[in-house]
Amino acid sequence: MDSKVQQVVKETILNLHKKGIPATPSEYQKEFCEISKVYDFSVQECEVFKKFVEKLSKNEQIEIKNKEIATFEDLIPILLNRVSKENLDSLAKLFQQSITPSISIDIDEDLHKFSVKIGNSPALMFEDDIQKEMQNFITKRFEADKKVVKEKTAEIAKMLTLMGQYFSDAIQSSGNGSKEVSNIKSEIQSMDMQAPNIETLTNLQSKLISAAKSIENEMSNVGEKLSSGKSEVETLEQKVIQLQEELEKTRQESIKDHLTGLLTRRAYDDAIKRIENNFIRNNTQYAIVFFDLDHFKKINDSFGHEAGDVVLSTFAKVLGKNTRDLDVVSRYGGEEFVAIVHFNLKRELLKYLKRIKSIIQENNFLYKNNKIHVTFSAGVAIRNNHSSYDSTIQKSDMLLYQAKESGRNKIILEDGTVI
Ligand code: GH3
Ligand code: MG
Ligand code: MG
Repeated sequence: MDSKVQQVVKETILNLHKKGIPATPSEYQKEFCEISKVYDFSVQECEVFKKFVEKLSKNEQIEIKNKEIATFEDLIPILLNRVSKENLDSLAKLFQQSITPSISIDIDEDLHKFSVKIGNSPALMFEDDIQKEMQNFITKRFEADKKVVKEKTAEIAKMLTLMGQYFSDAIQSSGNGSKEVSNIKSEIQSMDMQAPNIETLTNLQSKLISAAKSIENEMSNVGEKLSSGKSEVETLEQKVIQLQEELEKTRQESIKDHLTGLLTRRAYDDAIKRIENNFIRNNTQYAIVFFDLDHFKKINDSFGHEAGDVVLSTFAKVLGKNTRDLDVVSRYGGEEFVAIVHFNLKRELLKYLKRIKSIIQENNFLYKNNKIHVTFSAGVAIRNNHSSYDSTIQKSDMLLYQAKESGRNKIILEDGTVI
């Protein structure tokens, strides 16, 4: 055996003995790694532990240092303090929503990839580097939104300033002529009309002519200013109309999810308020269908996330094509879709569900030369069976969970029907 190793082994045992610590495997390893550091002796097992610890969060690293933890076994209680997978998944979803710009329409490719990465492994959110990246994306999102608002308001502000200037010019320039007229008026009033003096009258006449001239001049000045101002205002007006159209487009795009063209979660929340009001007033019965693609992560893993995107947008097309105008279908989350389906008879609802299922079952998704077969699970709850919208959607979510648990590729209704 190498003499350095022997030295480390010897000192490890001696040290444990001195400290009165029994040489259990974990105590031994802890001490061994400490001593090997002193001897500047690199041991792979100690390095593995160190590398692992570097990947944990700052707080965890501090705790590990304070408690002098040096073995994987002793790490367990610290790692158990981490949040559960379910909480992590929903946290990842919230984060994905929060970094997507709401006004700016530029969807950054990096942002999309990062979002998918977090979605694939939410636990990454605890890693230091990833947290720095998260911070960057949050800042970027604010900047993107701020920039669009600033650009859109600048033109309007410019137009307002210009108009204000024209009005104040027009008001000021009507000054001199009217002052002359009012002087002439007081002269006329003070004249003795019974015995008008011809000289005074001639004088007055020439004053009147000059006042009229200056009024005429002023009017033409104002006219010129107004007409040049008018063309500028017209140009700006054009720009404002264009801006209104752009804003409307932006609004439309914030209503529509950029990948699938379906309603976004935000727009869905608005639509459901309208549908609920209608239900309360007119008892227009509807069902909530909660769809979730099966093993979608595997599609991303096997064919790449671009292929995943194609599957998502094609699945969305199938849902969109089969949804009537008064119904609503939205991208509720990453690979989750929610449809609101109005119906009178249960068989109409069943027909809709069977149609979606058979289209997906009988077709493959095409990406480059790959034929990808996809299945989905769904839970269906009917609004009339519940006291509120919230409890209805919760029920559909629960039924979706049941469909997943019982083997996937099925649609479960609350009366036990399985499609
Ligand atoms: P299950 O059958 O239990 O639903 O398994 P699953 O793999 O479908 O579900 P899970 O929730 O574990 O994973 C969903 C995946 O969907 C993770 C996430 O990265 C991916 N995803 C979410 N949004 C997008 C997207 O816009 N594009 C792509 N390509 N993938 C996405
Ligand atoms: Mg899901
Ligand atoms: Mg899924």
